[in-house]
Amino acid sequence: MSTPDTGRRRFVSGLAVAGLAASGCSPRDAVDRRALPHWDYTADVVVAGAGAAGICAAIEARAAGAEVLVLERLPKTGGSSAMSGGVCYLGGGTPLQKALGFEDSIEAMRDFMLAAGGLHPARDKIELYCENSLEHFDWLVAHGVKYAQKFTESKELPLDGSSLYFSGCELAAPWRDIARPAPRGHVPTTAGHTGGRTLMEALLPAAESAGAKTLLGASAERLVREDDGRIVGIVAQQGDKTIAVRARRGVVLACGGFIQNREMLKRYAPELYECSVPWANAGDMGIGIRMGMGVGAAAIRMNQGFAILPLYPPERTIHGIVVNRAAQRFLPEDSYYAYAGHETAYNQHGVAYLVTDADSSYDDGDFRMPLLAEAASIAGLEQAGGFAEGALHQTVDFYNRHAERSVDPLWHKHPKWVTPLAKPPFRLYDLSVRSAFCPAHTFGGLETTVRGQVLDVSGEVIPGLYAVGRTSAGMPSAPYIASGVSIGDCSFFGRQAGIHAARAEVAA
Ligand SMILES: Cc1cc2nc3c(=O)[nH]c(=O)nc-3n(C[C@H](O)[C@H](O)[C@H](O)COP(=O)(O)OP(=O)(O)OC[C@H]3O[C@@H](n4cnc5c(N)ncnc54)[C@H](O)[C@@H]3O)c2cc1C
Repeated sequence: MSTPDTGRRRFVSGLAVAGLAASGCSPRDAVDRRALPHWDYTADVVVAGAGAAGICAAIEARAAGAEVLVLERLPKTGGSSAMSGGVCYLGGGTPLQKALGFEDSIEAMRDFMLAAGGLHPARDKIELYCENSLEHFDWLVAHGVKYAQKFTESKELPLDGSSLYFSGCELAAPWRDIARPAPRGHVPTTAGHTGGRTLMEALLPAAESAGAKTLLGASAERLVREDDGRIVGIVAQQGDKTIAVRARRGVVLACGGFIQNREMLKRYAPELYECSVPWANAGDMGIGIRMGMGVGAAAIRMNQGFAILPLYPPERTIHGIVVNRAAQRFLPEDSYYAYAGHETAYNQHGVAYLVTDADSSYDDGDFRMPLLAEAASIAGLEQAGGFAEGALHQTVDFYNRHAERSVDPLWHKHPKWVTPLAKPPFRLYDLSVRSAFCPAHTFGGLETTVRGQVLDVSGEVIPGLYAVGRTSAGMPSAPYIASGVSIGDCSFFGRQAGIHAARAEVAA
């Protein structure tokens, strides 16, 4: 990699990026290669973004012999990946699953992922991912990610150091009948919710010791394009310096999604705009997506994302029922909390309520949602919630009648959670996406091949350009089906892009 050219600091005025606002939602035009006076840095593969996707791309590109330079907008590496639970969705009979006595198959994992993820999921990516899940597990372990031989039945991210759990909808209806359930949430050994930090504490040093270089506080702002349309570099802003970075073989955009960009959210993902908690690091501004759009890339599934309805923990609240504005149930309450969030955000105008009795309530003062009413009867809640007279009563009455026999004929909640709501006081909680603690992040992004090559709006590959992680429209789609699909997508398809870019022809 060449060193900075300190001699020439002259840029034509059209290239200045210091004034480009991070927010905003318009595409970012590319810089014409001919307008660039010089390159400050050169590498074979230039990666924008030092989260899981970018770092896995960097590791593999180095392993394939490429010189790699990573640009990170923030003063610290890790991205949202380091804030996350670190859960990676893996299966097909990983050594951890086997050691803990669980049977799984690539087919069952694939069937679940294809069936649960909404209409027209990314079949090519899901299939490739499932086929290579065992190899990916081995790769993570070989790069320092450790898993403990401990399983938990908890529905929530383990807090007890367990490394395997059912992280999604596998055991809920209808999915438990579609594909044989297996626990596939693989959590790096850690205490508490710090799996993402543990994951990145393995991957970041692995990239460094492989020889990938990183520039901190360097925000990629515009792509550089040759006359023939090939992407050959990035113009970035590092403090008050504008730098031009040449990519001989490829640019990998790994800048995360856009949950922190309110303008983009309002325009592309209004349902997520309504959710109360942007769930990502401060760099999640959509800059990578906008740079891609600026060179004609297709941005797809831009309205889709992940939203959590904070129903559990504790799990006893799953004995309660979730209803909409019409006091009707609309899902099995034991489904994954991001499925419940999706159904509420996208299909119920963001409005949901939880009804509990004395045995299924939260502890007093749970910070995650407002308590709207407490009453000795369901009729008392009905008034407080503004439901039509008799509507909630009818819903609870129907539910209780069947719950006497542990049956849920409407939504098939698992019998172990189906008990009558019979013991006062009854409570009504506001689970609406605006009022409750409702974390959300985006899934939409640049359309890519399974090797991470970015496609334009006609479906043609844009030479020299790759996108991975939440900058791309990857495996995760809405409704989100299980924790770990995003990190799985970032790490696995980050690797594919790194390998492909490293082997690409050198730009003239
Ligand atoms: C609290 C929390 C828990 C989560 N738990 C899980 C989980 O357990 N499992 C799971 O699968 N998913 C989880 N997620 C979601 C998951 O963390 C993200 O979807 C995933 O980490 C995104 O990875 P990424 O590499 O695409 O982006 P990131 O990890 O965010 O990395 C992108 C990097 O790019 C940088 N960047 C942005 N713009 C630029 C630019 N213009 N130039 C240079 N750099 C730039 C950013 O600063 C950032 O460092 C969780 C998210 C949160 C917030």
